[in-house]
Amino acid sequence: MNPLFRQQAFIDGQWLDAQNGATTTITNPANGQAIGQVPNMGATETRQAIAAANRAWPAWRALTAKERSTLLRRWHALMLEQADALAELLTLEQGKPLAEAKGEILYAASFIEWFAEEAKRIYGDTIPSHKSNARIIVSKQPIGVVAAITPWNFPAAMITRKVGPALAAGCPCIIKPAPETPFTALALAALAEQAGIPAGIINVITGDAVAIGGELTASADVRKLSFTGSTPIGKLLMAQSADTLKKVSLELGGNAPFIVFDDADIDRAVEGALIAKFRNAGQTCVCVNRFLVQSGVYDTFAQRLAERVAAFTIGDGFGDGVSIGPLINERAVSKVEDHVQDALSKGAKRLCGGERHPLGHGFFQPTVLADVSADMKVASEETFGPLAALFRFDTEEQAIAMANATEYGLAAYCYTRDLGRAWRLSEALEYGMVGINEGLISTEVAPFGGIKSSGLGREGSKYGIEDYLEIKYTLMGGL
Ligand code: ADP
Repeated sequence: MNPLFRQQAFIDGQWLDAQNGATTTITNPANGQAIGQVPNMGATETRQAIAAANRAWPAWRALTAKERSTLLRRWHALMLEQADALAELLTLEQGKPLAEAKGEILYAASFIEWFAEEAKRIYGDTIPSHKSNARIIVSKQPIGVVAAITPWNFPAAMITRKVGPALAAGCPCIIKPAPETPFTALALAALAEQAGIPAGIINVITGDAVAIGGELTASADVRKLSFTGSTPIGKLLMAQSADTLKKVSLELGGNAPFIVFDDADIDRAVEGALIAKFRNAGQTCVCVNRFLVQSGVYDTFAQRLAERVAAFTIGDGFGDGVSIGPLINERAVSKVEDHVQDALSKGAKRLCGGERHPLGHGFFQPTVLADVSADMKVASEETFGPLAALFRFDTEEQAIAMANATEYGLAAYCYTRDLGRAWRLSEALEYGMVGINEGLISTEVAPFGGIKSSGLGREGSKYGIEDYLEIKYTLMGGL
């Protein structure tokens, strides 16, 4: 049995069942088998967690930054010590290959380490005064109770990227993990408890998303909402937060372009494409949705990419050498299937894959389609699965216009060896993040986030703590 397996929610330092005893069964996406159960909580338990967090807040904010930092570092150390147990739970409930799950745990832990360090660098300012007998001081204070609502695609990292800066800034938090992946969240809470993080500072509630989300957004005591998930739910939660004027951070959907110019290093572009498209079976918000390839290298790039994609090993994430696991559920598989069939019916050409995988359940064959055009669903909707769709372009202006022709603006990728073009693209692409000759851009040291319908705010880096702080200006007069 996994030492971090918990089937109860964590509120005010206690492991609890739902008050009415209701539970939900969680299944493994690779085979549909039950893994365990979690409490099906709702508004009552959410109110309890908010009250607990609010009570715990004064003592937590009163700690020195170094004291908070020390506790975060202990939590970080435990995550590293228990990385294998955490990765096992993650693969079990989410499906990604074990090596990728381990990678996510290390990535998740890196946010705790980073913000343990940043806790000590929440600097203010002094401003030259407008009056000779007064002084102006700017300080930063923790915003208050934080609600973190997270998705299933990165069950560990999407939590630590919010909780790390919240705790470092001096805020308590209430986590509502995705219903598909509660066990990783609960395991992280178990480690936080072992690390000595006080009761009420980290709470994890499982259950009814609408009831929990409704209570979190309606509460005036919750001062900040940090959400990662779909654009429609992000907009809904922002609207629900309007009444209490909460500060919101939203990390939402994307429609990432991956632009390959004739002058690109094609081998490097193919390597980048594999990771930028097929990591987590295509289920990341920065996954490529549209490959835009210049005419001169289109056929070469398409052929080399299809060869590599056809060679992927598909299977249960615990299997040896597996590089692509199952999708999270049947709805996810249907969406990929729909995008593939829609494209094929409108004239796209199949280079590999294109169908459900014989393994059944959440498995879909990694697919490459050529001759994809703007009238196909994949051009405007996020597929969130293992489908590489190749569009063709002739000029740089065309590529920029195609790349920007979307409501989204999260991540974009561009492959070119022309330095001038690289700069032009990095400036012209209407995206929060641009990878030039790189397919993997996520790191705790850089600001992650999008523009337009991809969201608000940045996570990670020195900027990532700002969302959890309020600026206070003090005027010392009469000196
Ligand atoms: P996906 O479709 O990929 O699951 P969602 O945006 O629906 O993306 O889910 C992301 C997170 O938002 C999950 O934790 C989910 O439970 C939560 N969620 C979904 N609907 C609501 C809601 N109405 N209120 C609060 N949270 C919600």
